Amino acid sequence: MSDLILFWHRKDLRVSDNVGLGIAVARSPKVVGVFCFDPGILDRDDVAPARVAYLVGCLEELQQSYQKLGGELLLIQGDPVREIPALADRLGAVAVAWNWDVEPYALQRDRAVMAALKERGIASQTQWDQLLHAPEEIRTGSGTPYTVYGPFWKNWQSRPKSAPVAQPDRLEPLTAAERDLAQAQPLPTARKLGYPWDGLWVLEPGTTAARSRLESFGQRAIEAYDPDRNFPAIEGTSGLSAALKFGAIGIRELWQASATAMELARSEEAINSIRTWQQELAWREFYQHVMYHFPELAEGAYRAPLKTFPWENNQDLFEAWCEGKTGYPIVDAAMRQLNETGWMHNRCRMIVASFLTKDLIIDWRWGEKYFMQNLVDGDLSANNGGWQWSASSGMDPKPLRIFNPASQAQKFDADGDYIRRWIPELRGLDTGSLLTGKISPIERRSMNYPAPIVDHKIQQERFKQLYKSQKS
Ligand SMILES: Cc1cc2nc3c(=O)[nH]c(=O)nc-3n(C[C@H](O)[C@H](O)[C@H](O)COP(=O)(O)OP(=O)(O)OC[C@H]3O[C@@H](n4cnc5c(N)ncnc54)[C@H](O)[C@@H]3O)c2cc1C
Repeated sequence: MSDLILFWHRKDLRVSDNVGLGIAVARSPKVVGVFCFDPGILDRDDVAPARVAYLVGCLEELQQSYQKLGGELLLIQGDPVREIPALADRLGAVAVAWNWDVEPYALQRDRAVMAALKERGIASQTQWDQLLHAPEEIRTGSGTPYTVYGPFWKNWQSRPKSAPVAQPDRLEPLTAAERDLAQAQPLPTARKLGYPWDGLWVLEPGTTAARSRLESFGQRAIEAYDPDRNFPAIEGTSGLSAALKFGAIGIRELWQASATAMELARSEEAINSIRTWQQELAWREFYQHVMYHFPELAEGAYRAPLKTFPWENNQDLFEAWCEGKTGYPIVDAAMRQLNETGWMHNRCRMIVASFLTKDLIIDWRWGEKYFMQNLVDGDLSANNGGWQWSASSGMDPKPLRIFNPASQAQKFDADGDYIRRWIPELRGLDTGSLLTGKISPIERRSMNYPAPIVDHKIQQERFKQLYKSQKS
């Protein structure tokens, strides 16, 4: 009889291009998958219903993938530090295998699981999978972690990248007695988990949808990614962020698709576009690396001037921002896209984050949390990185950026298509007024659209003054 290895899935909800699973299967054909619904995550106050629904959808496909291979994905619920070793014990597993994560909570949890397994005489087998380069692999010349993206990218892109890992051919099934011992539960719905969600999907959950999106993006849109990625009315980006967050698709598959597109590219523009997309994958890795090396980022500002910044934190202004009722059309369109779909275009994430911090003078952590409560792709490292970048509090050599909502709209939504799509009450307005936000009080009233909650020019000056007073 083959040794039983339990493979614990977390942010790698797939059987293909999965480093840890590949290595486990090479050691024994009897690999049993497990996913644990962790109250330490599900009971937090920053869980997005869209994200839970996406997770459940991915698990449904993962269960089917295991079945097709002859194996099984078990679902359990509870504190993984207790439940994973207990399940391994009940099944007589020789080892539990998993892929590392960079988040402080995950690292602490995993070390506790390792210790609990050791006490029971069960081995832990861990790998890096969600990154093309593990955090320890990319270091400055003096051996320290990078804190600036530019040199990180130079180093990161110069290294050879691994090819995707093959999917297992087959898995050995559990016996009936083992199945009884497992005490697994059926797949719950997102509603049953306390997070009903019936919004629009930017990308259907699971590996099949992610692969088909990657294929179509890699064949066409990637060559026009730059400049198309900047225009929120166009589907110019991959839309793969939730798939990457949950590992519905492997990062090596993405890299390979970009490398193939690069080989086929015939124009300078196409090559630059593909390179720009690869740079976004590197931003994702940069933020994960810094979260791993500087876990204190999760708690607050990195840069000293912003650690004690006198945020004004006006609750009414915050609510107007959340609801997409600031009276600034591009900001409101973006917030409504988030509220309705669980996703927001990157350009708009930057605009609304700048607006919250620099115009409303509200602590970026309020925005960070609201994003986590709503984003289908909500991810600590990327979200924290994006917010700290926008708030000028993070690791960034050019600290003070203040976006002007009107110029952003004029540049990136010149025809007003994005604004009209998400703010139906403004559809009849001429494009000039839509973009500049110069809408008369009478028009605003007749369209039932709010007056601007603050004056951009005044607030920008106020923020600069506050910022200066912190620096000195
Ligand atoms: C304030 C703010 C908050 C953000 N929060 C998140 C978040 O919670 N989760 C998240 O995945 N991204 C976040 N981002 C980054 C970015 O907006 C999204 O990754 C992107 O919009 C996803 O769309 P896409 O998959 O079409 O990206 P593409 O443009 O196709 O890029 C490909 C992939 O690269 C990664 N990526 C792209 N841009 C970035 C970036 N700036 N930082 C890190 N990774 C990047 C993503 O995994 C993305 O799927 C945030 C950005 C800002 C400014």
